[in-house]
Amino acid sequence: MRVAMIVIKTAAEIERIRQAGILAAEALREVVRAVHPGVTGLELDRIGEEYIRARGGTASFKGYRGFPASICLSFNDEVVHGIPGRRKLKPGDLVSIDVGAEVDGFHGDLAVTLPVGEVPPQLERLLAVARESLYRAIDAVRVGNRLGDVAVAVQRHAEAAGFSVVRDFAGHGIGRHLHEEPQVPNFGEPGTGPALRAGMTLAIEPMVNLGTYEVTMDDDGWTVRTKDRKPSAHFEHTVAVTENRALVLTAIPDGVV
Ligand code: MG
Repeated sequence: MRVAMIVIKTAAEIERIRQAGILAAEALREVVRAVHPGVTGLELDRIGEEYIRARGGTASFKGYRGFPASICLSFNDEVVHGIPGRRKLKPGDLVSIDVGAEVDGFHGDLAVTLPVGEVPPQLERLLAVARESLYRAIDAVRVGNRLGDVAVAVQRHAEAAGFSVVRDFAGHGIGRHLHEEPQVPNFGEPGTGPALRAGMTLAIEPMVNLGTYEVTMDDDGWTVRTKDRKPSAHFEHTVAVTENRALVLTAIPDGVV
């Protein structure tokens, strides 16, 4: 369910989200270590799920609105919400890996996109810009700013590099529910939207496309794909708003995002 208001978290609740975020980040690191040509999406899904379960957590995505897997894997022109399957990773693929973990009633959520083997410089640049756009957004998270300041930080960085940002999907508030208010878009106007308040917790997730920002939905009802079938990149962290800098709740040593 989606909570219809922005829930402000206490310091203790933020710490619980951080515990979930750390587990999600560790699971993502394990999955990334297993990325190589020939591995299947199902194998990566099992690695992620077993890592989380072995440490007392639950994969947030499993069964969420009927989602059939524990992690999302999105290849090349797939933007987000791809379902892990028998497809093997192959050299030249871009793969987005999105992991959510629930621990003690709270969720953490993060994602990375990486190349399988070598990819052309243009795609390396797409990955770099998408990652940078996430950190530009995180830099804009502070009391006194509005959500539009965060959104436009992504948009400006991606568009200045000649790429586009997906408009039909957004980041989200996060806490006791995987998806809470507010929506966290990747485009917008500075000085607009809800004011950021200490205790808000947000999953910020730029989706940056090489070509058009337009997307389509596959027949599986989950997989979001670029309309022009050009590649897309996706990075995500869960953060808490504080009086000063954003606190990244999915950051770990040797993290992959
Ligand atoms: Mg998310």
